[in-house]
Amino acid sequence: MNIDTVIETVVEKKPKIVSVVGAGISKASGMPTFRGEDGLWNNYRAEELATPYAFSRDPKLVWDWYRARMRILLEAEPNPAHCSLTKLEEKNISTGIITQNVDGLHEIAGSKKIVEVHGRIRYRRCVNCDHFERWDSNEKAQKSIELPYCPKCETNLLRPDVVWFGETLDSQSWQQAAEWTMQSNVMLVIGTSGVVAPVSTLPIYAKQNNSLVIEFNIEQTPISGYCDYSLFGPCEETLPEFTDKLIERMK
Ligand SMILES: [Zn+2]
Repeated sequence: MNIDTVIETVVEKKPKIVSVVGAGISKASGMPTFRGEDGLWNNYRAEELATPYAFSRDPKLVWDWYRARMRILLEAEPNPAHCSLTKLEEKNISTGIITQNVDGLHEIAGSKKIVEVHGRIRYRRCVNCDHFERWDSNEKAQKSIELPYCPKCETNLLRPDVVWFGETLDSQSWQQAAEWTMQSNVMLVIGTSGVVAPVSTLPIYAKQNNSLVIEFNIEQTPISGYCDYSLFGPCEETLPEFTDKLIERMK
């Protein structure tokens, strides 16, 4: 698909753009997917560690794994795809970013309107009370080997502020995601295969809302069939080209 044709169609809509983002956008930032990131952890699957059951059975193991992931994350920086979404926001063309990623790279790239539907790995919260805190400093992430306890209620553990397998999404986050979808007339689906519910339903809502749905992915995905356009290639290349041309065209 010719990118200029896509941009002309978008411009005609007087676009209000919502972006639905998945792991593909962070690959170029050096963020590995869940598996095989650290030799030590090769024998574990995310589905075995990122669960409430695993945490109740062996919180030390789960925390060691999250610290290993954090050490990788601390090396990662936003890439041109993250930055291009920040530019859309600065030009007031963006309604918001709905991300399935927990890495916090949109925020570091300078985006403000973000909903992190699967939570945020750089924060941890008490399993019992409302206390939460950032823990992504080098000192906290790398040096500590102790289990973290809540400084407020003291006897309860802190856990990563992410949505684990078997848990439901935070209802406020989900409501925000649905609202942004309805307030927009263009949806960009970036680096996500669209398989994981309920986020996978957002492009369907968008279509029902007469929005234009444009996919950015390296290959065909299960949602390609009902996207208006699919722009194939690494999204750190295709997305900046798209947003730069769009912003230029809308001047
Ligand atoms: Zn507490």
